[in-house]
Amino acid sequence: MTALDLAFFRRFLDRATRVIVAEAPYLTDLDAAIGDADHGANLKRGFTSATDALAAEPPATPGALLTAVGVHLTNTVGGASGPLYGTVLRRMGKILGDEPVVEPEALGRALAAAVASVRRLGDAAPGDKTMVDALQPAADAYAEALARGGVTAALDAAARAARAGAEATIPMRARRGRASYLGDRSIGHQDPGATSSALLVTALYEATDP
Ligand code: ADP
Ligand code: MG
Ligand code: MG
Repeated sequence: MTALDLAFFRRFLDRATRVIVAEAPYLTDLDAAIGDADHGANLKRGFTSATDALAAEPPATPGALLTAVGVHLTNTVGGASGPLYGTVLRRMGKILGDEPVVEPEALGRALAAAVASVRRLGDAAPGDKTMVDALQPAADAYAEALARGGVTAALDAAARAARAGAEATIPMRARRGRASYLGDRSIGHQDPGATSSALLVTALYEATDP
């Protein structure tokens, strides 16, 4: 079984940075349709800068790593998604504390609390066509699957739920963020933030494979 140790979270950051860099043009295209065409560029700047900063100053625990990434995202991503993703990672980091190896249940509590803090900060609920539409199903699926199996299966379930949640934003009408200015014209496009959230949760699952 995968240990949720520092190496696991380093693999997560590596994979997240790699996929965000690779998919930045796609994320920016999605944002061009219903926003201001910067989501991929915003996240690429944030994740590469966080990766560089953590290489220079390696954190000692999973909680410290996530907190440091969150601070960097808040400081470098900008836009709506910077503070929101910054909150997700800082909240998770805080809940994981200074344990060297995270219990799967603690990761579940951290995911649930992180989603709750994004919902509070963004005043967003499922169905509003935001990153919450990927993150909430991911946190729920993780908890449900963990009750039946191990952490790898739970993260797999979370990643699948996040991807399905991102796709489910296509027919939604945006009620938060820039896309909400478009009203009905936001219908028919996949939300960029929900899409990046699905990539990030998938990176978390893929970190189970060393
Ligand atoms: P900006 O819209 O400021 O340019 P980004 O393009 O980086 O920021 O991020 C846009 C994404 O942020 C949206 O696709 C959506 O998922 C998410 N988002 C925007 N506003 C909110 C909000 N109030 N609550 C939750 N998520 C939001
Ligand atoms: Mg944008
Ligand atoms: Mg912007």
